[in-house]
Amino acid sequence: MEIRVEQSCPQCGGKITLAATHRLLTCPYCGVKNFLQSNGPFRYFLPHKPGTNEEQTLLYAPYLRFKGNVFLVSETGISYRIVDTTQEGFSLPGLPPSLGLRPQAMKLQRLNAENPGRFLRLSREVPVILEKAARLNNLTGKGGKNVYHRAYIGEDVSYIYLPMRRKNSFLIDAVTNTELVDCTKNSSYPLKGSAFNSRWQVNFLATLCPRCGWSLDGEDDCLVLSCQNCDTNWYLGRKGLEQIHCRIVPGGSDTALYLAFWKISAHIPALKIWSFADFMERTNQPVLIGRLWKERVMSFWIPAFKLRPKTFLQTASRVSIDQWLLAKDQDLHTLPNLYPVTLPFTEARQALKLILAATAVSRNGIFPHLPGAQAENITAKLVYLPFIDRKHDWLQPRTGSVIAKSVLQLGRLL
Ligand SMILES: [Zn+2]
Ligand SMILES: [Zn+2]
Repeated sequence: MEIRVEQSCPQCGGKITLAATHRLLTCPYCGVKNFLQSNGPFRYFLPHKPGTNEEQTLLYAPYLRFKGNVFLVSETGISYRIVDTTQEGFSLPGLPPSLGLRPQAMKLQRLNAENPGRFLRLSREVPVILEKAARLNNLTGKGGKNVYHRAYIGEDVSYIYLPMRRKNSFLIDAVTNTELVDCTKNSSYPLKGSAFNSRWQVNFLATLCPRCGWSLDGEDDCLVLSCQNCDTNWYLGRKGLEQIHCRIVPGGSDTALYLAFWKISAHIPALKIWSFADFMERTNQPVLIGRLWKERVMSFWIPAFKLRPKTFLQTASRVSIDQWLLAKDQDLHTLPNLYPVTLPFTEARQALKLILAATAVSRNGIFPHLPGAQAENITAKLVYLPFIDRKHDWLQPRTGSVIAKSVLQLGRLL
């Protein structure tokens, strides 16, 4: 379920509610568009109820929110699940292990330097917390089953803080006013917390073309914005707006929509995959190896838009195997029927081992090698592929990749 965040407009101060996954903030009062930039995950807190002792400094406990697809490759194949969870990031007897439905039920506030509270630090590494989330969703190898790989492809990884207040020797949940932690019994835990860290600050950047100053176009959940004036594209990265040279495989006159893929070229030394021919051989594809395939570096084609896990794997596998059928790509010039890019490169690159597993005709040649199969010499491009309208589906005519329209629509809401 969508998490809503309440936020003041940096221009006019008006209160705006936006979805946690949105990186663009469009103010309905003054019309100004801003792009949210931060060096790490976004941080929010649950708004507390006014207490009797209002001037008291609140202590905040961190929870990690993960929403996305979790995949597991094991002896029995690939399993996956859509996971939406919050997990405690600071282990302390008395704290709830998860925030349950509370983040969905109330509007979260974005954490900023004006919050005078003290914040407990994560006491466990993020991967450990994610693994626990996967376990709770029954995505672990059951007794004796070999697990070769786990992947977390997130739509949202963020921190949500639970406010607590001290009352006598107890820490009280400042939202529900219930007792949580008996401090006399837990005096060995570091409960002082630290103040807001300036590295957590979210910056609001104007969505103006850094090259010509024109206003950039793009929807609120979109990660690539285009400038109609100077014909450039800009990626909303961690550091701000970065120019991205997009490519396109031009379609025929029946093209109804262009969907973007992260074309990630890489070597996988552990599997002796350097070229596209190597990939086709290692994964035992039942086709004759083309003469030029040895000169073609292996590229993984990962959808740059959100999809349910099954369709995500199918689409990436189909296009990766049949990439040799695609026409040559060329420079992208602004077009009206481009579907928004909603999956960042940092998430797409988590999918390489999964695609190896999903395309493997015989598991034994690939699965046991996955733990050591690190990708090297990675380069990435964003390439738009043409799709035609087939009533209920979008069809990529050269590769035969099919995406149901309903699934693409749902991906926007994921
Ligand atoms: Zn405003
Ligand atoms: Zn421009």
